[in-house]
Amino acid sequence: MDKLAEIEDLTLRYYTYEGVVKALEKVRLVIKPGETLGIVGETGSGKSVTALALMGIVIPPGKIEGGNIRVFMDGGFIEVTRADENTLQRLRGRVVAMIFQEPSQALNPVYTIEDQIGEAYLTHMFADIYGQALKEVEEEIAEKPSSIILGIERLILRRFLKNRRDRLANLLGKLPLLRSYRRRVRRIVRNMVVEILRQMEIPDPERVASSYPHQLSGGMKQRAVIAMALACRPTILIADEPTTSLDVTIEAQILELMRTLKERYNATLLFITHDFGLIAEMAERVAVMYAGSVVEVADVLGIFTKPLHPYTQALLKAIPKIGVRELTPIEGSIPNLINPPAGCRFHPRCPYAFDKCRQVQPQLVHVGEGRLVACHLY
Ligand code: SF4
Repeated sequence: MDKLAEIEDLTLRYYTYEGVVKALEKVRLVIKPGETLGIVGETGSGKSVTALALMGIVIPPGKIEGGNIRVFMDGGFIEVTRADENTLQRLRGRVVAMIFQEPSQALNPVYTIEDQIGEAYLTHMFADIYGQALKEVEEEIAEKPSSIILGIERLILRRFLKNRRDRLANLLGKLPLLRSYRRRVRRIVRNMVVEILRQMEIPDPERVASSYPHQLSGGMKQRAVIAMALACRPTILIADEPTTSLDVTIEAQILELMRTLKERYNATLLFITHDFGLIAEMAERVAVMYAGSVVEVADVLGIFTKPLHPYTQALLKAIPKIGVRELTPIEGSIPNLINPPAGCRFHPRCPYAFDKCRQVQPQLVHVGEGRLVACHLY
């Protein structure tokens, strides 16, 4: 299989009181198995919106107005933009999961880490967890065949395994005497949570599992958020500026952890950032976004040694360098997407712009092995 997901000509608009925000314009992107694909661009270029759309999340007043998103799931490709809510629920967490930029906002302050990671397990691995609980009950019944409580516990677990909303199982489970199945399920989930926290190299994972987010440091919270995203072994892990809120030492640790986990789980990583330094450290391929479109795709070496798109060239020139006193900023600013420039959206800032650039939007074209660029110069 040569791809895990494909975004084709995705067009997304936000209908606001101020006007229609043309947030994504014919975005095209392919995610290959096992790779780390970096998405880089200024704030407002559409990186996070693209990632959310990949998970079938379009926050109102957003609306997908064109294009397709196909993700490999359950042995075939599903069309995310047309999938029903049940399919999307299975997709999120188990197939595509996201590490958000700000761990304090990604975690709910009133639940413990165990509750929050446990919920991910219960949502996506319900059958595995209840199946394990049932197995334990059956082993205990083999030793104590006369136990009525164990018999009812087995009945409850069997009914839940057939139907999570089984009314009789729910009714019986509410009786105080018969709540032992809950304690059993909770113990299984807690063991899973502690184990995943241990894999995140968190010292004292038992304590962290019982903690509330405010009791943890920034780095520890981000590790818990990564654990939550990885809990169900997703095929594609999206990291949306995962180290923005961390200091440099913790950032280095988190990046190292992500590299280790990617290797261990053979995961595919979509790494979103505005920082070319992080792209150089993490990515194998890079997609550069500008004002809602992908303008260049190349392997990481190609982007740094021979950037083709004028925007990529300008971004790289703007990076501070040792021994160079003057920075070279990109003239102008990102356009207002309610009223973006016609033709190439970069043309007001591009030193090479010519007439065609002001009228016709350039499409991504192949200009070499694995190399795409959207510019009329090519
Ligand atoms: Fe510059 Fe024209 Fe290329 Fe846009 S299409 S980047 S304006 S040269």
